[in-house]
Amino acid sequence: MLRNDQLDQWDRENFFHPSTHLAQHARGEAPNRIITTGSGVHITDRDGTTLLDAFAGLYCVNVGYGRQEIAEAIAAQAKELAYYHAYVGHGTEASITLAKMVLDRAPSNMSKVYFGLSGSDANETNIKLVWYYNNILGRPEKKKIISRWRGYHGSGLMTGSLTGLDLFHKKFDLPLSPVLHTVSPYYYRRDDLTMSEDQFVAHCAAELEALIEREGADTIAAFIGEPAMGTGGLVPPPKGYWQAIQPILQKHDILLIADEVVTGFGRLGSMFGSDHYGIEADIITIAKGLTSAYAPLSGSIISDKVWEVLEKGTDENGPIGHGWTYSAHPIGAAAGVANLKLIDEMNLVANAAETGAYLNQAMADAVGGHGNVGEVRGEGMLCAVEFVADKASRTYFDPAKKAGAAISGALLKRGVIARAMPQGDIIGFAPPLCLSRAEADEIVGKTKEAVEEVFADV
Ligand code: PMP
Repeated sequence: MLRNDQLDQWDRENFFHPSTHLAQHARGEAPNRIITTGSGVHITDRDGTTLLDAFAGLYCVNVGYGRQEIAEAIAAQAKELAYYHAYVGHGTEASITLAKMVLDRAPSNMSKVYFGLSGSDANETNIKLVWYYNNILGRPEKKKIISRWRGYHGSGLMTGSLTGLDLFHKKFDLPLSPVLHTVSPYYYRRDDLTMSEDQFVAHCAAELEALIEREGADTIAAFIGEPAMGTGGLVPPPKGYWQAIQPILQKHDILLIADEVVTGFGRLGSMFGSDHYGIEADIITIAKGLTSAYAPLSGSIISDKVWEVLEKGTDENGPIGHGWTYSAHPIGAAAGVANLKLIDEMNLVANAAETGAYLNQAMADAVGGHGNVGEVRGEGMLCAVEFVADKASRTYFDPAKKAGAAISGALLKRGVIARAMPQGDIIGFAPPLCLSRAEADEIVGKTKEAVEEVFADV
């Protein structure tokens, strides 16, 4: 094993970390925690410090760390056949089995599943497919994609454009022009605080309709949204939001892509966020929870309606010109099969609903009354605490104060990993779906201490 100081040096000299302050990291000013093992909801770093990971990595290790069933399935697949491609009708037992298992769990209008590697590439696939779809239907002008401010759909060229967060656009010449952004369904941060929830939903719908009319429905291919927003601040939609949005999309013949990279496979306490909120999507994006991140794998679940057109397209034009070398990688697929079995055996979807509701209630009870806590919100095993300088006016803290990061630092000191979300002073919790009530109590107790410590002088 490498010495710690050697590893430190190599890390700073050689490794380009994603979403990192590169200069601070290279200069050694930012911590470089190096993780060595994990078990259940805990990870341990190379210094032997064990932490409760209340964000499940990047809300992806849904079954928890150290599940031997998945590790063994991966090893068995690697020994038997580490790789074969899926082009021109090829496949493996693992990839075919996983496609069947995904469709058995997906909403009933779904027909096929395409496998990629990351949430970003799955959404790139989805955009190409809706463009292809409209070309086959003879409407080459219908190409723009509507996303929402604060949505997160990846950090590629198109997916980074769909993402509605400044950090992912700034200095990258994004967003690209086929992408339009509409109002974020973020009730707490509505512009007009006098609006009721119903009025705000009507406002979101009216803004969407106005955007479609301004641009022309015949130029718009699809709308993409997370059933409950993740990276933008862990924001469940206001009541009736999807019921107000969907008829507008249907009226204008605009496809709906439900980005379930976070919500798929149980996080909200339902198998899919689409089931949870009554969304009828044309395409569903999946990743994270598909393998619980034991191996990289994502997917695009395609509805009957879209599939029919894709088939027609290949009858007219020949094989579809899309695919990655690693599409439906057998090791990822083997991990996915073992992971979905484990989600069922451990009853994790029900636990996400029950323990998630417990966590959210306990968090609201513990910190909701604090003068600097604007809102505690969540759904299933997602929970967010939003901090404000002034509760009544919902004033943001001066960004230089880094209130969210201060809370995550105070939590880390106490052995809990939570995520300071990238925009606004929001601390996010998205623990593995196997979280117990005792572990939820630990998260809440330490959050209360952290809030009291950080805001002691405010
Ligand atoms: N969509 C959503 C909703 C996500 O949360 C993420 C990742 N956080 C992505 C897409 C992109 O996934 P990846 O990071 O695997 O590319």
